[in-house]
Amino acid sequence: MVPESDEDDEDWTKYADVGYASAYDPWADLVEVEDSNEEDEEFDEDFDDDFDEDELRPRDIPRCPSTTGIEHVIQIGTCDACLGRISGTRIGGGPLEDAGSRVRADALERDPDLVVNEDSEYCPFCEDLFVDVDIIATRIVESLNGIEFTKAQLGTHFSKEHVANEETLRTNFAAIGSRPLKASLTKAIQDAVLTKVPGMVWVKEKPEVMILIDTLTLGINVDIRALFLYGRYRKLSREIPQTRWPCRSCRGDGCEACDDTGQQYPASIQSLVCDPLVEALSASGDAFHGMGREDIDVCCLGQGRPFVAELKHPLKRTVDFESLMELINKQANGQIEITGLRISNRPEVARIKETKAEKSYTIRFTCDHAFSQEEAEARIMTLNGKELEQQTPQRVSHRRADKIRRRKVISLGDIQFEGNEVQFLVRCESGTYVKELVHSDNGRTTPSVAGVLEADCEVIWLVVEDIHAD
Ligand SMILES: [Zn+2]
Ligand SMILES: [Zn+2]
Repeated sequence: MVPESDEDDEDWTKYADVGYASAYDPWADLVEVEDSNEEDEEFDEDFDDDFDEDELRPRDIPRCPSTTGIEHVIQIGTCDACLGRISGTRIGGGPLEDAGSRVRADALERDPDLVVNEDSEYCPFCEDLFVDVDIIATRIVESLNGIEFTKAQLGTHFSKEHVANEETLRTNFAAIGSRPLKASLTKAIQDAVLTKVPGMVWVKEKPEVMILIDTLTLGINVDIRALFLYGRYRKLSREIPQTRWPCRSCRGDGCEACDDTGQQYPASIQSLVCDPLVEALSASGDAFHGMGREDIDVCCLGQGRPFVAELKHPLKRTVDFESLMELINKQANGQIEITGLRISNRPEVARIKETKAEKSYTIRFTCDHAFSQEEAEARIMTLNGKELEQQTPQRVSHRRADKIRRRKVISLGDIQFEGNEVQFLVRCESGTYVKELVHSDNGRTTPSVAGVLEADCEVIWLVVEDIHAD
């Protein structure tokens, strides 16, 4: 029942080097499939025609920055930006185009008859992508409209052929140390976007928005990264589950049984916490990660249970924690209370899920034992510090493997008797089935309170008094 995030952050972190000549190609799989068409065969033939013919054998032409080399790359139609990047004559950090046009002017001054080959339709290095930089930047800015963000990461996807061909060309003709196409184009696009969106920064990891450009189609994909918020909840209701729970009859589609809500329960801790957050941050959805969970009929008091709320694709990222907590608590109408809301991150989700926190409970049950109060108390106290063997309880056996768990009763005390009702405070290891510790689940938990009192015990209520974490 725990809703897992459908995103995979790890995948995105691999984009960290994107645009910096990384060998990692995030679309490698896609390209592989697309590649098996005839267009590419044609392209390969073109490639052979252009560069394997004897008159164009690179060994006859020295690389840039030799004048012959520069003349050659001008003749084959190299654009100013690529000329600036591969000619080896660039000085300072100005725009590539400016450097390239100076190189071209110098070459023309040396040889006024220098012309671009007639059959050159576009820059063989970038396929005229640098010409499109401003269009791409404008499109990016348009796609970011209405999104609150500061940190953005840019990924550019090239076809494998383009990258390979450009590298061959560069190896043959470019000055040694020339910057690769991907890095140069990425930088040019980033610079162009920066002039249009003041205040934003480009990052190589942990972006708030991830922008991907496909250089074949000039298609732009913007992914707004999730926003994570940490807090603690106190569960005061014995009638709500922790997470949203699809209706058993319709499985979430909506039916008569669930009043068309699709939910088995009208509210959950997740909905009470996340619905106001989704609305305030204009998010598309949410996931709820708790440090464990309690049964529907169990309260959680003390400092409350740590959780991380994951807000997906939020258009806003500025959070007024105090007023949002107030809003959530007010709308929850006494069913839950949250405290300590703050910014979190995905690694904390893992931490929260892995933390094995000891928990303290108060449990109350009925028991018609045949012993004096002193004897009953002494018998219950024998469980203090004991390790329990707990076979997977029957009530959860439909969703958990049948096995034996060993969990320790850390401490036990504050035993109270009232008629045939007994109550005590117990602190256990994470993962202890506490109700079963009392009623024994037909002997599947040993030792147990029912066992030591040699009688049937029936749990009346259970409260998580505290979660000993953080
Ligand atoms: Zn070019
Ligand atoms: Zn239903």
